[in-house]
Amino acid sequence: MTIASRDSNGNGQASAVPDSHSRTAPPAAAKPVKKAKRRSTSHLKAVPETLQEREALRDAARVYAENLDRSKPFTKSELEAHGRQLLSELGQPEKFLGFVMVLIGNFFWKRQFLALPFERRLLLLPHCLKHAEGCPADYDEFGLDCEKCGACSIADYKVRAEQLGYKVLVAEGSPIVLKIIVSGHVDGILGVACLNVLEKAIDKVLIAGVPSYAVPLHSGDCKNTKLDESWVWDCLDKYEPLPEPQTTGYVPLMRASNRMFEQQFDELVPQVRSTGGPEDFESPLAATEAISYDWLKHGGKRLRPFITLAAYDAVTGAEGLAAEMNDESFVQPLAVRRAAVAIEAFHKASLAHDDIEDDDLYRYGQETLHRRHGIGTAINVGDYLIGLGYRLVSRGTAELGGDVVADVLDSMAQAHLKLCDGQGAEMRWQEQGELDLKPIDALKIYALKTSPAFEAALFAGLRMGGPIDDYQEMIPAFCRHLGVGFQILNDLKDWQGDEDNKLVAGQDALSLRPTLLLALALESSDDAQKRELAEILEGEGDESFRLGRLRRIYDACGVFEKARALVEKSRVRAEALADEVHPDGLRQLLYFMVDTILAEEPAPPTIPTVVLDPLPILNPAGA
Ligand code: SF4
Repeated sequence: MTIASRDSNGNGQASAVPDSHSRTAPPAAAKPVKKAKRRSTSHLKAVPETLQEREALRDAARVYAENLDRSKPFTKSELEAHGRQLLSELGQPEKFLGFVMVLIGNFFWKRQFLALPFERRLLLLPHCLKHAEGCPADYDEFGLDCEKCGACSIADYKVRAEQLGYKVLVAEGSPIVLKIIVSGHVDGILGVACLNVLEKAIDKVLIAGVPSYAVPLHSGDCKNTKLDESWVWDCLDKYEPLPEPQTTGYVPLMRASNRMFEQQFDELVPQVRSTGGPEDFESPLAATEAISYDWLKHGGKRLRPFITLAAYDAVTGAEGLAAEMNDESFVQPLAVRRAAVAIEAFHKASLAHDDIEDDDLYRYGQETLHRRHGIGTAINVGDYLIGLGYRLVSRGTAELGGDVVADVLDSMAQAHLKLCDGQGAEMRWQEQGELDLKPIDALKIYALKTSPAFEAALFAGLRMGGPIDDYQEMIPAFCRHLGVGFQILNDLKDWQGDEDNKLVAGQDALSLRPTLLLALALESSDDAQKRELAEILEGEGDESFRLGRLRRIYDACGVFEKARALVEKSRVRAEALADEVHPDGLRQLLYFMVDTILAEEPAPPTIPTVVLDPLPILNPAGA
């Protein structure tokens, strides 16, 4: 749920707000609602002050949602447009937009959520509900370990939910929720959160097609917060089977992608020299394969292989999109899955080499490969994974045909060359150390470094699914916008730090990487600011002091706003290309990629298997 401001005059309705007709009978192939510019959203997240007002909006949202097309999940833009439409019909102010978007999402999904067995649900509670002064609970890796002292409502919900069979977490929702869903532990979420958290987290969950119901906190104060408790009980202990078909979504395909690296890994990537035991890492003959497989198998969101599977699915009947969430019988052809694993192998190879070149310390919450095993081994593992990736594809000739395999290999090779060109350009710029970088040059590097992996993943899925002629031009253009926008978001994220990868804010900036932010600052700064920039970037000394100076210059040059505008431009251009694509399932996938890859919050961190595995024991009744 990323929500947009209105026009500056405050009066205009978003141009593509659906009329009541399109709401009651939206055609399956209707184009997504057109996008509005996204700016600061804090003024759109008010919660009505009285219970009567909140319930009036809730009841209106229930009626509004009754006639929504449930064949597929919302895009972000569609949900926002529905929110604006409802507020317009009610004559309510824009400030309640976030609130009504949550409510409409709730009633879109409520029946499907209530049809889930209790043991397939997750109850996600915020720790800010606790009694701030007297709570005796400590935090563990799952969040707050409530001792059920009874001083706040957390204990009431937790006890009842665990009795019913729910998994329960008292934690900040955004990083972990989708990972838990994709891992297959639960199928739906009953969540309590403030609108800030819901904006960051629930949109990913909603647009992926996860049945969810969210109860908004009355404020985002993070301390002794309040909610309408009866709204939780409306769902928590209710179960209503649903005979009608469910909304399709991407969770089955995400789970299919996950299974390739878990249950199916040995089938897809058989071991040749290693046995899978810890002794492999010490054996000279087995170690390279063992370390490479371990690196390939663990860590990351597996987004790129998902894209390959989903693209193949979109042009071959959308069986995966229509699959039941827990349908493990949905399995795509061996050669398709191996090509998807190859995409991940290339990605992991590039990360191994990239981490060496940048001397990064952490990846996926652990020490980087070269710090664990040495630079020589890490280079070798990267090379091994490249070879493995090409072999995984080439071995599919009998199943896919020589022409298809040749095209896929060619696309992968092309991606590989572009990536090396981009990485080389970045390193050369750093070596030269001259503060001469134009925004267009930074964007060119981004297009080379980041876009090819998306391009290879999308191309492979579509080409294995059939002729590619209709998509030849769209694929590189779409992926260029996607990759550039994604990389700019990473630049912005650099200023927030990244707990999972143990990054400290501003590291890219201080390490003299040719980022767009730096290029924008150089473009707008006066001579004095340029001199100061050079001093900061070339200088030694206290990092936080240098970062503070750098941020002041960036702020003065309007760098962050300009970068966000460029992300927005990338998003709009990618969506414009998606609008022209057929079949509808492929267009839906492209929109989903835009919504998830260009989401403005940090990507969910990797949750190690050791953390996910014990989840069921959070619920003794369900163990
Ligand atoms: S019920 Fe649980 S979360 Fe609430 S104050 Fe007591 S120990 Fe803390």
